[in-house]
Amino acid sequence: MSKFQQFEEEEQDGYLKIDQYNEKNVERIAEHYTDILQAIGEDPSREGLIKTPERVAKALQFLTHGYDVDAAELLRGAMFEEEYSQMVVVKDIEVYSMCEHHMLPFFGKAHIAYIPNGHIVGLSKIPRVVDVFARRLQVQERLTNEIRDCIQETLKPAGVAVVIECKHMCMAMRGVQKQNSVTTTSAFTGAFQNDVTRSEFLRLITASLG
Ligand SMILES: [Zn+2]
Repeated sequence: MSKFQQFEEEEQDGYLKIDQYNEKNVERIAEHYTDILQAIGEDPSREGLIKTPERVAKALQFLTHGYDVDAAELLRGAMFEEEYSQMVVVKDIEVYSMCEHHMLPFFGKAHIAYIPNGHIVGLSKIPRVVDVFARRLQVQERLTNEIRDCIQETLKPAGVAVVIECKHMCMAMRGVQKQNSVTTTSAFTGAFQNDVTRSEFLRLITASLG
């Protein structure tokens, strides 16, 4: 029997979106959220909150579905032999993740490059790899390294570069309330450890096409 037993369908302009949830987990998480609502002084039985524990449980499953996906396998499924050996850059990839310390969102952009060494990968797979690691409880530093290591170990390119810039809601909404600060992390392998190559990458991700 499939792990996913609960289906939710939503029709949007002729496109059928199907969300799958693990029903047992939805129930289990929802029960806890009923308690949490009471603990913060809310009334879980008032109209606006009746379905909230279930909605939160489903949202949480979606936001952490990266645990169920093997990013290396995803890349291996779209690798092609190719002689191209110049830098491939995919920039401005949207990142949505949740910090593991507060379970609050952090979000921003990732810029990724690699230098092929016999193989290239379907371009759409790079943002998918970002998503697989972002849809878990994370810290931005580890997210950066996990993306770099996955691409390096799977594609075995001459080098990988990852730069991530994010705003953290745990900083903006609570604590220090530094609302506009952005955290930048980076990780490099191989050819990108060389100053000239790294500078070219940094120039490419900061240049605009306009
Ligand atoms: Zn945090």
